[in-house]
Amino acid sequence: MAQVILDKVNKVYPNGFHAVKDADFVIEDKEFLVLLGPSGCGKTTTLRMIAGLEDITEGTIKIDQKVVNDVEPKDRDIAMVFQNYALYPHMTVYDNMAFGLKLRKTPKDEIERRVRNAAKILGIDHLLDRKPKQLSGGQRQRVALGRAIVRDPKVFLFDEPLSNLDAKLRVQMRAELKKLQKRLEATVAYVTHDQVEAMTMADKIVIMNEGVIQQVGGAFDVYNNPANIFVAGFIGTPPMNFLNVKVTRDNGIWFKAEGISIKVPEDKVSLLENYIDKDIIFGVRPEDIYDKNFFEGADESNILNTMVDVVEPLGSETLLHLTINGQSMTAKVSPQTRAESGQNFEVAIDLKMIHAFDKETEQAIF
Ligand code: ATP
Repeated sequence: MAQVILDKVNKVYPNGFHAVKDADFVIEDKEFLVLLGPSGCGKTTTLRMIAGLEDITEGTIKIDQKVVNDVEPKDRDIAMVFQNYALYPHMTVYDNMAFGLKLRKTPKDEIERRVRNAAKILGIDHLLDRKPKQLSGGQRQRVALGRAIVRDPKVFLFDEPLSNLDAKLRVQMRAELKKLQKRLEATVAYVTHDQVEAMTMADKIVIMNEGVIQQVGGAFDVYNNPANIFVAGFIGTPPMNFLNVKVTRDNGIWFKAEGISIKVPEDKVSLLENYIDKDIIFGVRPEDIYDKNFFEGADESNILNTMVDVVEPLGSETLLHLTINGQSMTAKVSPQTRAESGQNFEVAIDLKMIHAFDKETEQAIF
């Protein structure tokens, strides 16, 4: 069992900067949890507090029901893998992987067994005699992983471990890491600012901004039911479109603005009771906007007449950068779509997929 609980954890650095504010979440046993957010949001600080490399200003961290606030990093039974791998350049791969076990006075034959086993799992058993500088980036990454695996820790902590790899290798290692985690039944906390990495690997995502947790949920959850404008705009590429509209009542409830008229589906109407005649933010993802001609059921409730700014064909799909009376919008449409910059273009919106946000609090209405 390895469960990690953060209870109202705060970090105020000595210079007074409040980097993490009331962080509350649980990493369940065998769970792959990703801390996701833009640069500087407090992800690494949070991870380092779990590792014991950073003091906790307020709150508690428990590992397996035991408060570890004052437990030394070496006694927490965790292994951390860093972005820069932190390998010892003068040692062989074998010695790099064995180093932590030697420090712990593990018997020699036990070290040998664990290093060879981890090397085999990672496919680096033929590299054990090499020095780090004789390895590729991906191989170094595996050695850093191997060094964590041989420790057989309760919890693995990863700080952007794939960010130094090229795009192709990153995609490959992403899948390998996830498989490895399942095979080892490891409990993992993984820091990244890459939302695709988070979505593809995580059982649970903790989204942070400016030191504050914005939402905790599965990939499906944070994509489909974002808690606020920050999460809605951070998850998904290209990001969700946000348009300023007014909620009006006229034979049903509508979102209206100059050139915009969208009918709110019946099942959402009651949620807008307190917003009639008020301004809100209407959200729709690029993938939920269609060429009118390819959308079944296109009618006056869901069609927008836009102006095409730029057409970006990507092969499997085409991105259209559109404007409606000065408000910008991106649509991800079928490559069969014929649209030209400078021309009018009618799109249909999938009303089942629309979002609405309170303009003041930026929290989701739906
Ligand atoms: P990145 O993805 O860029 O690593 P991050 O989300 O991991 O970002 P942290 O490294 O946790 O962010 O830093 C959070 C904030 O705390 C940043 O604004 C950073 O400048 C600040 N910070 C980090 N270390 C210290 C320190 N020792 N003293 C003061 N402020 C710090």
